[in-house]
Amino acid sequence: MNKNSSNIMALAPNTPNKRETVCIFGTGDFGRALGHKMIQSGYPVVYGSRSTQISNLIPKDAEVLSHAEAAQKAAVIIIAIQRQHYNFLTPLAEALHGKVLVDISNNLKLNQYPESNAEYLAQLLPGSKVVKGFNTVSAWALQSGTLDASRQVFICGDDVEAKQMVMNIVRGLGLTPVDKGSLLAAQEIENYPLQLFPMWKLPIFLSLGLGLFFFFYCLALDVIHTYIYENNNFSFFIAITVPNRVFPAMALTLLGLVYLPGVFAAIIQLYRGTKYRRFPDWLDKWMLCRKQLGLIALAFASLHAVFTLVIPLRAFSSWRTSRKIISQALNNETEPLDHTNAWLSDSYLATGMLGFFLFVLLGITSLPSVSNSVNWREFRFIQSKLGYLALILCTAHAMIYGGKWFLNPSAYKWYLPDIYMLSLVVPCAVLVVKFVLIFPCVDKPLTQIRQGWERNPRYSE
Ligand code: NAP
Repeated sequence: MNKNSSNIMALAPNTPNKRETVCIFGTGDFGRALGHKMIQSGYPVVYGSRSTQISNLIPKDAEVLSHAEAAQKAAVIIIAIQRQHYNFLTPLAEALHGKVLVDISNNLKLNQYPESNAEYLAQLLPGSKVVKGFNTVSAWALQSGTLDASRQVFICGDDVEAKQMVMNIVRGLGLTPVDKGSLLAAQEIENYPLQLFPMWKLPIFLSLGLGLFFFFYCLALDVIHTYIYENNNFSFFIAITVPNRVFPAMALTLLGLVYLPGVFAAIIQLYRGTKYRRFPDWLDKWMLCRKQLGLIALAFASLHAVFTLVIPLRAFSSWRTSRKIISQALNNETEPLDHTNAWLSDSYLATGMLGFFLFVLLGITSLPSVSNSVNWREFRFIQSKLGYLALILCTAHAMIYGGKWFLNPSAYKWYLPDIYMLSLVVPCAVLVVKFVLIFPCVDKPLTQIRQGWERNPRYSE
């Protein structure tokens, strides 16, 4: 057995009592934080540094040696150095021969170099076994112990044994290794910390655009129109009234947009008679961000609920109520209870509260910790069946709100429909098409297609 494989055998079984020494090149922020965590977890740590002077920032029990000396002490060497300095490792090729080198580096930009840093390291030192890992964990999280959100450590490498050794160390630190395959995956792992909410971009831009449109639309009809034609200055509506009309419109439209791509997908599959052809790119992207759209919709629905609760506290509301009471007293008349109105108002509130409850339930079940604890059928039941029920209830809530105004010409200021009418367009379209899709004559072929049946099979016997 050669010297290098004996190193590997020595580290593989990580017994809780005796951990093998780990070498870290570089005493910078990450090197120190990782060293500290390793010492806490029982690993002897030796640093390879340009300066062997021990500063008080270096973990107390660690040794600091020259790079060549430190490399002799361990089979696994963590390279906690920026990529642009990697060429200093070339003269150390002999000392690093057969060692497992863990590349933890990140870049400043996506796809900054033609090859990943780990592949570059492997090219510089072909005699070493390069493994990519730890780059998605921050020095701050390691030092402060706030690793709950980033317990997963992505690992990749071409040498299975070397990868296993690094995964054992990751486990030894109380983290979870995730094997991403060969070194070819390194570029993806390096790009990962540089991504900025990739799944949220489309939903956020869409919500911003839609929100601005609804806001100015509402401002024009509720404030500017009233000012011009009724000579009433209701500019204070900008603080509560306008937002509280925009929020529900946003929530309902976005909830409709969560279910619309599913309806499009069904129509496309029915039209093509197969599920084996890719959806258009725009539909794929839309389907992938449904969860984010739903969560933004939930945020708007919650804002609507909170803004509605403060309505009785508004000066405008008490002024309007007292004006009504005084006018009744002056005219010596009492308004009898309008039962139809009472029914409408209670149904409006009930559908709103039930819809909101289901909305919250959908939001909770989309959290990874909750969705991981239900099976696929349960998840689909909640997201699809209860989701549609939430959409029906919220649509009914908006319809009851403005039902009596639909045919009233005074509701159309500047011949434009009110904002709640606009908010009903997407959900009503989704519900109508969905209603057609559940008819047995449509549902049966669609179910068959989804089970693999093809109208024109490409590979007939
Ligand atoms: P850093 O604080 O700048 O430390 C880098 C270390 O590299 C220095 O302390 C130095 O150690 C060594 N070094 C600098 N110039 C060198 C040269 N010309 N030749 C040889 N060694 C040199 O950087 P860091 O934040 O620790 O990051 C180190 C690596 O970890 C980077 O690749 C980074 O992308 C990655 N990373 C960092 C974090 C983080 O949160 N900081 C998270 C994930 C990954 P000596 O003085 O001991 O020689």
